[in-house]
Amino acid sequence: MKTKVYIESYDCRMTVVYSQIVASILKKENYEIANSVEEATIVLLNTCAIRDNAEQKIFGRLNELRSRKYNNPTVGVIGCMAERLGEALFEKADIVAGPDVYRTLPNLIEQALSGGKVINTVLSNKEMYEDIEPVRLDSNGISAFVAIMRGCNNFCSYCVVPYTRGRERSRSVATILREVQTLIDSGYKEVTLLGQNVNSYCDGDVTFAKLIKQVAELSPELRVRFATSHPKDLSDELIEAMASMPNIAKAFHLPVQSGSNVMLKAMNRKYTVEWYMDRVNALRKAMPGCSITTDIIAGFCGETEDDHRATIELMKSVGYDYAFMFAYSQRPGTVAEQKMSDDVSKEDKIRRLNEIIDTQNLLSLHNNQADIGKKFTVLVEGRSKRSEKQLFGRTSQNKVVVFDKMEGVEKGDYVDVIVRSASSATLKGEIDM
Ligand code: SF4
Repeated sequence: MKTKVYIESYDCRMTVVYSQIVASILKKENYEIANSVEEATIVLLNTCAIRDNAEQKIFGRLNELRSRKYNNPTVGVIGCMAERLGEALFEKADIVAGPDVYRTLPNLIEQALSGGKVINTVLSNKEMYEDIEPVRLDSNGISAFVAIMRGCNNFCSYCVVPYTRGRERSRSVATILREVQTLIDSGYKEVTLLGQNVNSYCDGDVTFAKLIKQVAELSPELRVRFATSHPKDLSDELIEAMASMPNIAKAFHLPVQSGSNVMLKAMNRKYTVEWYMDRVNALRKAMPGCSITTDIIAGFCGETEDDHRATIELMKSVGYDYAFMFAYSQRPGTVAEQKMSDDVSKEDKIRRLNEIIDTQNLLSLHNNQADIGKKFTVLVEGRSKRSEKQLFGRTSQNKVVVFDKMEGVEKGDYVDVIVRSASSATLKGEIDM
């Protein structure tokens, strides 16, 4: 009988992608991928270390896995948190493996099953796993993530990624196109090209703008998305590529982090508010109706009320469609932790974060209401959670739309939907007949 491994992915789309790679490596070595913890001999937690609460969640899960509720599985922590904490995880975990050593997992598991604690956190500046075909765990059969690069060279002062994932390296164009073609042949209709900073993608003279065009040219039926971009690297070439291909989604995630130049400098973001607004205006000019989303940190080291107000003003100027918003938490080993003072009180961080969230909720509602009466091409993803009589899907702008079922319309189809009502999170509409 094959040994069963259950893999849980936490907090980041990159962990989802690399869990699929891990599943592929293990299956090749005769392991079976389990559908639940209960049926598994080994449980692997694929982790993100970017925020403190992501790590706290993992500690909670490790305690749970060690409780009587479960049948004492062999537990592994893999990914960024394993890289960052190393042997400190041995108190709760049997296997600790960093993001660049997944090929050694069968060996590590074998050793752990014979009773030892095992660790490998060696970083590589070459490992891309590009010869490994991912096993699409939990896939809806319509949308898939495709990793195109790994690592980051930017060293934003608050971020652990350059330390846990190592330096930037790009996959070859040929392996990316091959993987996407396989997905198309299997009926997938949407791919999201993933990397810590996709704008830095480079394979010979192929830039990210050239790559995304080549991917989109594989099939007009394929919708192409990407994440994440660094504003400093957002080129006119990429904007032109997006505008020129109808099947490249008109949605741009452009993490700003703060609306204050003083904070941007302290964060080592390498752009100014003026540069950022220039890029936003270029996107809007080339693609009117393109959605823009962002990430914002409230209460970074030294942030004053004026800096905070500048963030709120910038949010209003851009009119973001959506934002991922967080209160700053120190990450060990980063420049901010070692050289700056985490001097904004917890109360102020929470208040500022709430003001940012309230601002974004109003902006999202306003933008969604502006869609009422408009027609969008929606890729159907499945049945609505609330009603069997309804379907849901996404617009090119990545907005969720719910609409009544219609005979002959199925998951994976594109349909034109006219929006009839909107909340800050969802659009409701009807199929245009
Ligand atoms: S660009 Fe900055 S925030 Fe993004 S992964 Fe790199 S260091 Fe972290």
